[in-house]
Amino acid sequence: MTNLLKDKKLSETPFRKEVLAIFKNYKTAIPMAVIERDLKDYNRITLYRTIKIFLEKGLIHEISMTGESANYALCLSDCSATVHHHQHVHFKCTQCEMVSCVEVTAFPSLQLPDYKIEQLEIQASGICKSCLQGE
Ligand SMILES: [Zn+2]
Ligand SMILES: [Zn+2]
Ligand SMILES: [Zn+2]
Repeated sequence: MTNLLKDKKLSETPFRKEVLAIFKNYKTAIPMAVIERDLKDYNRITLYRTIKIFLEKGLIHEISMTGESANYALCLSDCSATVHHHQHVHFKCTQCEMVSCVEVTAFPSLQLPDYKIEQLEIQASGICKSCLQGE
């Protein structure tokens, strides 16, 4: 866990480790409210600053589904602020409302004439694995 911070050349403060540990606890993307709930003791400004640094360093990425508050999920180790190497779809479950990063074997590539794509995000919604299994 500490390596993640080191890899991104971030100093390993106890608070950063704590926030990172929360991300690792969840298999889904999490909104700010969940991070706030899981932190025992925190300063709101420090938390927002930490999230901002994590985003800037490509440690986490933001997922904004239309009309929803943002969710955050851990990135792959080779992500940077400008280039994200995600081969996954953001899936929102209509039953449990969890947002997850779902890896796909063949991520579609898209060419836009006269445009340079730096990031391509695919969002999908439906019923997630655990909700399907729970039925
Ligand atoms: Zn990323
Ligand atoms: Zn679900
Ligand atoms: Zn994702």
